[in-house]
Amino acid sequence: MNFSYWEKEYLIPPSDYLIVGMGLVGLQTAINLKEKHPKANVSVVDRHGWGLGASTRNAGFGCFANVSEIIDDLKNDTAENVYQTVGKRYRGLKLLREKYGDKNMDYQTKGSQEIFTKLNSEALAQGIDSIRGINTILDQELGLDRVFTYTSKSSLPNVIGSIQNSYEGQLNTGRLYQTIYHHAQTMGIQLWGGLEVKSWDRTHSFHVKTQHNITLKTKHLILCTNAFTPLLVNENIKPCRGQVIVSEPIDNLPIEGLYHYDNGYYYWRDIDHRILLGGARNIDIDGETSFALETNDKVVRELERFMEEQIVGRPVKIDYKWSGIMGMGKSQQKNPIIKEIEPQLFIAARLGGMGVALSASVAEDLVNLM
Ligand SMILES: Cc1cc2nc3c(=O)[nH]c(=O)nc-3n(C[C@H](O)[C@H](O)[C@H](O)COP(=O)(O)OP(=O)(O)OC[C@H]3O[C@@H](n4cnc5c(N)ncnc54)[C@H](O)[C@@H]3O)c2cc1C
Repeated sequence: MNFSYWEKEYLIPPSDYLIVGMGLVGLQTAINLKEKHPKANVSVVDRHGWGLGASTRNAGFGCFANVSEIIDDLKNDTAENVYQTVGKRYRGLKLLREKYGDKNMDYQTKGSQEIFTKLNSEALAQGIDSIRGINTILDQELGLDRVFTYTSKSSLPNVIGSIQNSYEGQLNTGRLYQTIYHHAQTMGIQLWGGLEVKSWDRTHSFHVKTQHNITLKTKHLILCTNAFTPLLVNENIKPCRGQVIVSEPIDNLPIEGLYHYDNGYYYWRDIDHRILLGGARNIDIDGETSFALETNDKVVRELERFMEEQIVGRPVKIDYKWSGIMGMGKSQQKNPIIKEIEPQLFIAARLGGMGVALSASVAEDLVNLM
């Protein structure tokens, strides 16, 4: 099929701001730009009909920190970066809730628990030792009193202790995306799916080429392409795929709220009388370093085992399974990259595994930078 003259030359008008990537960061960046420059022509393009990276495929944790992950992150990054990212996530979550409303994303502050079994009893001891110090820093940074508390009680089998964060909550990923997408549409932002950006040339403005030889013209080009950014520009980002499964509806759900295990490698929550469980990426790190939106049988089998043995305590039917791609630093850095690569060319990417909360801060910081 060839595109018509009209489709190629006139359908998509030149933009003042062209954003590549219709995930949470791309959409919120577009909204913030339109608020700041109401007369500007703001467009967002994505290679898929809607964002199909991480923003519609995540677990819906409104989270900003867990103790083991902080301890682990401090091994790979500076304390300044680690706590700055936690702060950005916390402020981003607040911003997201204030701007779009808890009702419009089914947000519920049910809290989160990081559980420990005999298999990671050393991590529990290390966690308990660190709670006081981490709480003091988070109190200074975020003004939150005693973010983490320890308890030895749990409704789950094999648990020897858990560390709770009562400030975290859960949301409905589909409703959040729909709310932000609809908000962008009503502001007059042009949203175009099915256009994969391949390259660009620039003279005084950008000529952006897509896979069907459609050229988009823009004064500013903004890459909100998260894990896929290194396919366009050379940045310290690698793809980290994550698998998710959702059980059949279960009577008397054994848990409510958010749960983490093994440095956040396993995470689960309740949704519509079902259990959503994700992770186990650590059992096949090489296989899960991938741009392909495919399910990984080895990881899915491990998630099914974990669901049965650690959460529900009996065999359970799995109704949904899928994968999504996160963007992380090559040495596991999780702080986002927000910068101007060259005049009028910007990037906001590398959102890590807690990017829902982070997305609002990143979009705000990027527009402030611009
Ligand atoms: C399985 C999983 C579970 C997660 N769970 C949680 C959670 O519970 N809580 C939490 O806070 N975070 C979670 N995250 C992380 C969070 O979803 C992401 O950090 C966040 O959605 C990133 O948003 P984004 O807009 O930066 O990127 P994305 O949503 O990945 O958007 C990038 C977009 O760019 C598009 N794109 C890429 N290249 C091109 C191109 N060349 N041309 C056109 N379009 C292009 C892609 O199609 C994609 O839609 C999870 C992620 C995964 C994968």
